[in-house]
Amino acid sequence: MLALVGRCCRRRLHPKNYSKGYHVLAIESSCDDSSVCLIDRQPGKAKLIDHETESLDSSAVGGIVPTDAKTHHQGHVAPLVQKMLHRNGLQKVDLVCATRGPGMMGSLSAGFNVAKGLSVAWNVPMVGVHHMLGHLLTPRFFSNRTSPEYPFVSLLVSGGHTMLVLSKGILDHQVLANTVDIAIGDMLDKCAREMGLKGNMLGKELERLTQSGVKIPAGFPEDLQFPNPLYNQQGRVNVPAFSFAPFISAVKRASKVHFNDQLDKIPHEAKVEFGKQIQGAIFHHLTTKVLLAMNQAHSRNDIDLEKPLDFVASGGVASNQTLRRTLKHSLPKTLRYHFPDPKWCTDNALMIGWAGIELWEQARLHTDLAALNKAKWPIDQILNLDCWISRD
Ligand code: AMP
Ligand code: ZN
Repeated sequence: MLALVGRCCRRRLHPKNYSKGYHVLAIESSCDDSSVCLIDRQPGKAKLIDHETESLDSSAVGGIVPTDAKTHHQGHVAPLVQKMLHRNGLQKVDLVCATRGPGMMGSLSAGFNVAKGLSVAWNVPMVGVHHMLGHLLTPRFFSNRTSPEYPFVSLLVSGGHTMLVLSKGILDHQVLANTVDIAIGDMLDKCAREMGLKGNMLGKELERLTQSGVKIPAGFPEDLQFPNPLYNQQGRVNVPAFSFAPFISAVKRASKVHFNDQLDKIPHEAKVEFGKQIQGAIFHHLTTKVLLAMNQAHSRNDIDLEKPLDFVASGGVASNQTLRRTLKHSLPKTLRYHFPDPKWCTDNALMIGWAGIELWEQARLHTDLAALNKAKWPIDQILNLDCWISRD
């Protein structure tokens, strides 16, 4: 049911005949990436015209500072839009899409308010998009909406989220497993920082380190005792949930016990091995729980693992090649994998534009301009929010 509250008002909009094709401008600003794109939507196909992202560099501060992220978007979103329209000889578009939530409020509002302004100025509809819907629908842009086919399962692994979602339709999503503490990307970043790695995307730096191809150094500890959290301890048998917080304690303990609290200063070969083991332990935990949650969904007849089933892995961490291999190796052979190109795994405007197009065309929805951003917005409650407007 659509939640149209009193303060939202329907406006007469979209005299244009959208069935003949239309241009879309999309803005993503939920975290620290200001991202803008233009899409040319024609009947039966969609073409990305242009895409640009300006990321906040937080490498010196050791984490994203929300106020810095907001300021970053305020300084970048509008100029990116202006530059992109000029570059492509466009004065206006027919549909504006922007991330409404979930995410950091300051960041979200900086992009969303630009989108509202453009919608008013051009008198065109706006779609307020759910960020995670964008991640899970991404492969449908590249397959021209043919795959993944509903029902499909998505593993969304990023700096802010870790969840396994079963999607039965554009507005019908069920969370099969979620994290009980922090997100996997956040934990990979914390572990990499503890190891003395530097950069803006520390999970990516950790992956690069593990690919250095050196041998295990002589005398390297046999067992670093990395955990597999929530794994059949008393009272926690078969919990379909992830937990990543224990990994940083384990890294600190191993650093103290084996490396004299000088993990950041150990020789390169030892660091490579340490990195492989901690990344491997985190991915092992993730995969164990994905398998458990999928088996449970199979037992409930929510999915059928004996038949082909589409499986999407998206979000920044999904660009990790070791994780992709681990998933393929550990999960049922009936799965058909959709791994977006790493560029489209991390936050981007294309996924917001495409999810906006699907909401507009399939669900026939757009968003009233009185809509506010939502820091928390569960994926299984997409419609359970005010200010949706139905075109029917
Ligand atoms: P997102 O929140 O989707 O923009 O993704 C950002 C998160 O993904 C950060 O925690 C990154 O460290 C992590 N990340 C990006 N690339 C990789 C990679 N190749 N391997 C592991 N983690 C990654
Ligand atoms: Zn994301």
